[in-house]
Amino acid sequence: MPKNSTTLVSSDNGELISELRTIVGESSVIEDPAVMQAYCVDWTRRFGGPAVCVVRPGSTQEVAAVMRACAAVGVPVLPQGGNTGLVGGSVPAAGRSADGKPDDGESGERGEPGEPGAPPVIVSTRRLAWIDPVDELSAQVSVGAGTTLGDVQRHARAAGLEYGVDLASRDSATIGGTVATNAGGIRVLAYGMTRLQVTGIEAVLPDGSVISHMSGLAKDNTGFDLAQLLCGSEGALAIITAVRLRLHRPHGRTSVALIGCADYDDALTIIGTAASGRLVAAEVIDATGMRLVQDVSGLPYPLEQQHSLFALIEVADGGSGDGFVADVLEARDVVVAMDASGIERLWQYRERQAEGFDAWGIVHKLDVSVPLETLAACARELQTVIAEFPKVKEFGIFGHLADGNIHVEILGPPAEESDVDTAVLECISRYGGSISAEHGIGRMKVDHLDLSRSAEEIAAMRAIKKAWDPQGLMNPGVLLPVSGE
Ligand SMILES: Cc1cc2nc3c(=O)[nH]c(=O)nc-3n(C[C@H](O)[C@H](O)[C@H](O)COP(=O)(O)OP(=O)(O)OC[C@H]3O[C@@H](n4cnc5c(N)ncnc54)[C@H](O)[C@@H]3O)c2cc1C
Repeated sequence: MPKNSTTLVSSDNGELISELRTIVGESSVIEDPAVMQAYCVDWTRRFGGPAVCVVRPGSTQEVAAVMRACAAVGVPVLPQGGNTGLVGGSVPAAGRSADGKPDDGESGERGEPGEPGAPPVIVSTRRLAWIDPVDELSAQVSVGAGTTLGDVQRHARAAGLEYGVDLASRDSATIGGTVATNAGGIRVLAYGMTRLQVTGIEAVLPDGSVISHMSGLAKDNTGFDLAQLLCGSEGALAIITAVRLRLHRPHGRTSVALIGCADYDDALTIIGTAASGRLVAAEVIDATGMRLVQDVSGLPYPLEQQHSLFALIEVADGGSGDGFVADVLEARDVVVAMDASGIERLWQYRERQAEGFDAWGIVHKLDVSVPLETLAACARELQTVIAEFPKVKEFGIFGHLADGNIHVEILGPPAEESDVDTAVLECISRYGGSISAEHGIGRMKVDHLDLSRSAEEIAAMRAIKKAWDPQGLMNPGVLLPVSGE
């Protein structure tokens, strides 16, 4: 991780930079280290490194010309949206000194263009922010990749529809970034992951050619589904420039309940009972997260008794939702909200979890999933595994309970140490889980991909990467290790 902003610029690419200026205009190429800081260091502050410059193209044609210019001189390209990714995939790798060790930020030695570790050109998609009118007949909309998730949600709502993906980072995360990471979030239970919302895509390939298939046809069996291949590709295959999205009829009124639970088995029992109702969301928070959210937000403790775990569920009214609240929750320590402001207040206990942990320093964030039947046992073992690391000061678990997706947040170990991360991922693998539920592999988990995918699957992914990106220029070191790319 860079120590200061002067380590963020790589300056041996004068000709390339002047060509990029010609393509996108003087003001859309950023070389000022102070301004580049926001693009070169990620949201977790654990990952970051030097870049040649930041380019902000304003159209698909400009993205294609930028790609061609970089490919001609063998300079890698790193697509970036809102830079809210949590696995180091949205920022350059830390510099390497001549002996191959991570650069301390002072030696000044970097990989040369074309070599593994060479600084990339960061292509920011934020200027590709446009939204077409909603097509109400098909309930679809076409948007530029740089449009924020929040803007798409508001645009859909204005047309009486709903976009099916929602994350706490909604006002910074872009549609291109959410597609590239196949983002999940708090509505997966109701609508599925981002890939289920994508009906068409436009993208620029590493040689500058543009693929565009934006018709959004409900039936279209004409070969490989390239849009789906790009979902979860983490910038390692192409730059997504536009997306056609499926929208949904809204659920109407909902109720939210925050319920004290004895343990994960107890919380899962509630979810199992609620499955017969119209469950829209089912989240979990532990006592550590509850305390840290109260510290950072000033929110009061919401229940009467103390609990080690809390389930937050949202149920659509009109079905058996009202009955669920009355029948299942009657004997429990629970608070229920039925109006918009009460619902928003209860969601804050869940949505501000990351903020609560981040307030105390660098957080090791592990986003994992396990089969629901092993979740309780796995969570118990994780607590034992993590507690064995003497540098761990505090840790907690929150997440998307019904998806078997938990976020393990660990405070204490220095940013560059990853022993505890590895121990968590190995534990998840023993329980038949995935080392990345929704954040992606990025740089953080690239050396552990084999915990979740077989050698044959990784070889197939490498073959796809080689076919799309023969020069290995697209976000090297993210998703697949550089060696063999
Ligand atoms: C407070 C907070 C809460 C979050 N909650 C959730 C959650 O509930 N669920 C969840 O899934 N994630 C969550 N995230 C993680 C993050 O918001 C998502 O991963 C999001 O999809 C990233 O979008 P972005 O535009 O910021 O992408 P970036 O961070 O800029 O990039 C992420 C990856 O996508 C690639 N990429 C970006 N744009 C493009 C493009 N146009 N073409 C090709 N590749 C591209 C990048 O190269 C990188 O590998 C959260 C993050 C924060 C900070």
